Amino acid sequence: MRAVVTGAAGFLGSHLTDRLLATRWDVVGIDNLRTGRLTNLREARTNSHFRLQRLDLAHRAGLPSADRYYHLASPASPPAYQRDPIGTLRVNSLGTLHVLDAARRADASVLLASTSEVYGDPEVHPQPESYWGHVNPIGPRSCYDEGKRFAEALAVAYRRQYGLDVRIARIFNTYGPRMSPTDGRVISNFIVQGLRGEPFTIYGRGDQTRSFCYVSDLIRGFERLMEVAPGVPTPMNLGNPRELSVREAAQLIARALGIRARFRFRPRPEDDPKQRSPVIRSARRHLGWQPEVTFEEGLAATVAYFRSIATPGRRAA
Ligand code: UDP
Repeated sequence: MRAVVTGAAGFLGSHLTDRLLATRWDVVGIDNLRTGRLTNLREARTNSHFRLQRLDLAHRAGLPSADRYYHLASPASPPAYQRDPIGTLRVNSLGTLHVLDAARRADASVLLASTSEVYGDPEVHPQPESYWGHVNPIGPRSCYDEGKRFAEALAVAYRRQYGLDVRIARIFNTYGPRMSPTDGRVISNFIVQGLRGEPFTIYGRGDQTRSFCYVSDLIRGFERLMEVAPGVPTPMNLGNPRELSVREAAQLIARALGIRARFRFRPRPEDDPKQRSPVIRSARRHLGWQPEVTFEEGLAATVAYFRSIATPGRRAA
């Protein structure tokens, strides 16, 4: 059985690839290597059941035939998608179209990696899948939010019109080993800053909240969502309901690093969501899934990863 993973060199794509290989799938990884990193696939590339195809999905079709398509390709951190808003819109629109067409030709199932960003700056809290969101369509985050909303709309249109088996995961903030140290997300930023002996950059007052899911929990959720019998509700939230303010997260990260937290305050980015936490009743009920790794355990593994890749000579590295 063959699975295609788009965005295979990314943080989530590479973990998913490793998991699929471990469970005896043949995997074709697709990546344009713009935000993905080959080092994430170091182990996969030694496996004869893995093949990497360098392809820019936003510009070209050309996906191989497979039994499962996991569509993860897209810049995902706010600095990354804001550096290339058109590329982000292209991969989520045309890229998604190419994946859905390939799946239709192959009569295969598709899992679309969507996001809690479809809820925008939510006025309903915590967020159930039934909430339609509160999104600024022309703000700095719109390329990602609206790109993913379009991708969801396209996926359900393929289901309605062609009967394609599509499953949509709305992913809430996920962290763990292989996050890029330069992608600008809060957990990677704070760990890298802490290892360099620098203060943590807090945007705004740090009272905005997020709910952080450890990567192995999320990948387990992907597998279940893809393999559960057809007919479960979709989209489905996948995330950890434990909600932390950015300041609380900072304190826990400082503890994991064994340092005293020091802060440097920066202006809050435009349209930065004030609060975010998933309702996961649907995943619990239909997938028997819930997160198992605590934030403290996940942080220990993530800090160990960042220590292992720290450049020698850097302060505190
Ligand atoms: N954030 C912060 N300092 C940083 C990076 C991010 O205070 O160095 C804040 C950011 O404003 C947001 C939260 O942390 O409120 C999560 O940001 P991230 O970019 O990780 O994810 P997203 O905004 O996409 O949820």
